[in-house]
Amino acid sequence: HLSNRLQTVADFVKPGARLADIGSDHAYLPVHLAKQGVIKTAIAGEVVKGPYHNAVSEIDGEQLTDVITARLADGLAAIQPDDQIDTIVIAGMGGTLITNILESGKAHLTHHERLILQPNVGEDHVRRWLQDNHYQIVAERILAEDGHIYEIIVADPAEHAVKYSVAELKFGPFLLQEKNPVLTTKWRSEQARLQQVIQTMKQAKNAPEAKIQEFERECQQIQEVIL
Ligand code: SAM
Repeated sequence: HLSNRLQTVADFVKPGARLADIGSDHAYLPVHLAKQGVIKTAIAGEVVKGPYHNAVSEIDGEQLTDVITARLADGLAAIQPDDQIDTIVIAGMGGTLITNILESGKAHLTHHERLILQPNVGEDHVRRWLQDNHYQIVAERILAEDGHIYEIIVADPAEHAVKYSVAELKFGPFLLQEKNPVLTTKWRSEQARLQQVIQTMKQAKNAPEAKIQEFERECQQIQEVIL
């Protein structure tokens, strides 16, 4: 049984997929998808030994070694050409780390893969990387679970170059259209956090005025676009 967060990621893996789950930890996602008969094969990539061993024992325990292979490797280096991976999941990390993994692992991409990305923060970095690397966002989800709000970004190779607006990069092109109440909750609390920072900076007296103005503009943008 997966968390709602991972189940939402799983929903975007197509039947018959050849999956690479990068930063797989316990390999819960590929194990679940293999048990459901959704995926043909999977790589569970991990750069840290502890989580890698978690993946190995989960895969062994579920007797799925012929479907899922755990590999100790940094980012996309877990993917080998013979794997013929067509779907890559990178979930449960910061957006900057996800972007770094994609950028430094470009040599391992055919650029035909579907990317299913779940950044915990810094979603704008991820969207900008997709835009700059000829991917188009095809779906987005936002959900609240256990006191956290998660975003899931699904991207396929772009047929035509896409250019997102500043607001779309920040808030998400599909999330902006959908205006899910969770999106409002997320940005209302981000706005409150910024207002708190602004207050503190103003009281500090010597805080840089330019930075205060930048945060005030950001509050204004959230107000205009979302609230
Ligand atoms: N993907 C799972 C999920 O969403 O539930 C596990 C997320 S866990 C919080 C993040 C995992 O990413 C950790 O196990 C960490 O070791 C792994 N990780 C971080 N950087 C990595 C990299 N460059 N390559 C592979 N795995 C990485």
